[in-house]
Amino acid sequence: MALCRATDSGSAGFQPANMGGAASSRATTGSANIPPAQLDRAPREAARVVMIGVDGLGARYIPWEEMPNLRALRDEGTCVVARCHRPTASAINWKSVFSGLPPEIHGYNKWNSTESSIEPPPSALASDGALPDLVAEIRRQRPNAHTALLYSWGGLGFCLATNAASVARHYPGGSHIGDALAAYAGRDSSVFDEGMRQLAKKPLFMLLYQGQVDSTGHATGWGSPEYTNACKNVDANIGRFVDALRAFHLWDDTAIVFVADHGGLDKGHGGKEDIRVFEVPFLVSGGAARGMSLREPAMLMDAAPTILALLGLDIPAQMRGRAAVDP
Ligand SMILES: [Zn+2]
Repeated sequence: MALCRATDSGSAGFQPANMGGAASSRATTGSANIPPAQLDRAPREAARVVMIGVDGLGARYIPWEEMPNLRALRDEGTCVVARCHRPTASAINWKSVFSGLPPEIHGYNKWNSTESSIEPPPSALASDGALPDLVAEIRRQRPNAHTALLYSWGGLGFCLATNAASVARHYPGGSHIGDALAAYAGRDSSVFDEGMRQLAKKPLFMLLYQGQVDSTGHATGWGSPEYTNACKNVDANIGRFVDALRAFHLWDDTAIVFVADHGGLDKGHGGKEDIRVFEVPFLVSGGAARGMSLREPAMLMDAAPTILALLGLDIPAQMRGRAAVDP
């Protein structure tokens, strides 16, 4: 399990599933006569899933000491180190996150792909002729549900079925690389501001995407002080959002899924050998996930099946990832 705890930053490293603080606190609070796992067994289905996606947040670079809100989610939930897919860039991996497919099948092959570069095999397509997609699947199974996709990088909109969502909003401005970092931080903050407003509509699924960590990595390097500052900005957004969930009394039946698309090295995230590029956090928390454990090994294509499972929805046969939790 060394992978799960290894860290380059010297801060408290990743805690693998079943070894986090929540597990130990459950063990000490349970009655001697009742197994702890039954004391706080989660409901079988989450009333909603909120997915927080942070571009470029490598598992080995997470400054846990500087991210108290993410740390609290980790300690109350379950968290593993997952592997991203090759090539190790954004659109490729976000497409895997939302389609439940590896790049060899979905065909995205560049950081800014907007469509499949190679024709997907016919057997990978659903009856409507499209690749499987998390948001489209939610719409198909729960036609009246409210769903919201909020993101600060326009390329993300090509990685999932925005037309199947109730709300799909890109907060634009600047380019992906070399962007003015303060502007990117402002857009990421706007994503969470709107996310808190969307809570009033009780969304079944909501995506909150953050772009500033990747952008800062490209500008000043993965693990640089500026990179850590970007992580702290994201953490502050998470803190505000969790406070809102609790204030609206939505915490108990919400599952939060937190993933990143790739790590990095120096000022990039290409290459085939360095593990710092491949390792990403895969975390599930929130009241509806209490008592759950993520299974290892996990890959990013497991994200969509995991979210469908958390919602109690069917996982389409075309998805090749697997649900990494047993709700
Ligand atoms: Zn990047």
